[in-house]
Amino acid sequence: MDRSSSAASRAPAPATQGLVGRLRALLAPHCAVCGLAANASPLCSGCRRDFFAPTARCRQCGLRLAHGERCGRCLRAQPDYDATITLADYVAPVDGLVVALKFGPRLELAALFGQLLAERLAPVVHSATLLVPVPLAFERQADRGFNQAREIARVVQRQLRCTMLDAALLRTRHGAPQESLDADARRRNVRKAFAVASAHAAAIGGGEVMVIDDVMTSGATLGEIASVLKRAGAARVTNAIVARTP
Ligand SMILES: [Zn+2]
Ligand SMILES: [Zn+2]
Repeated sequence: MDRSSSAASRAPAPATQGLVGRLRALLAPHCAVCGLAANASPLCSGCRRDFFAPTARCRQCGLRLAHGERCGRCLRAQPDYDATITLADYVAPVDGLVVALKFGPRLELAALFGQLLAERLAPVVHSATLLVPVPLAFERQADRGFNQAREIARVVQRQLRCTMLDAALLRTRHGAPQESLDADARRRNVRKAFAVASAHAAAIGGGEVMVIDDVMTSGATLGEIASVLKRAGAARVTNAIVARTP
């Protein structure tokens, strides 16, 4: 067959068609969870529904709840934060994505989480909302080179056009990594571990603060941060997190 003929140039040979199809499939956006092609979204609709759909949760701490507005633990001892909004539970496959973001590092996952959080937060965030990412312990940030909470918060800030107070929280003390401790030790470990930077104290006073983090486990860190922010005069503190340990 003469490949330079006009018929051949109009319709690619079957082998070429197969190659074009495979290239298109490779270049199309793929779902971050299942790897299947996803149209114009980092998640396919099935994975979005299966792993990131809103569910009934304690409005204060984000634990899954069969009924009622607050879990027994929040009713017994009110945390200093007013509400928690979480995208998912910290179970497979979301836990794997969070670990991949931090240790991969797969920074494109910060864009995915930030976009999903922005969608969930859109009804409650307004232009005066202050986004405050949880700071990493200094030596961890030095090791990793980035703070995943900050990367996620940046995406939320860009999408919702609110204010991000990147350096509002300071680590004043560096305890052991929380994941190595039980619940009581976690509370002791984070006590007096944070402070509001004096340059941002005026902005925090009377403000609505949205604290951004990747994972909430016992809530000890976020409880301590909320208490510090409330002492600095924050009117309301909401946690906005990617995944909650069930
Ligand atoms: Zn998928
Ligand atoms: Zn609760």
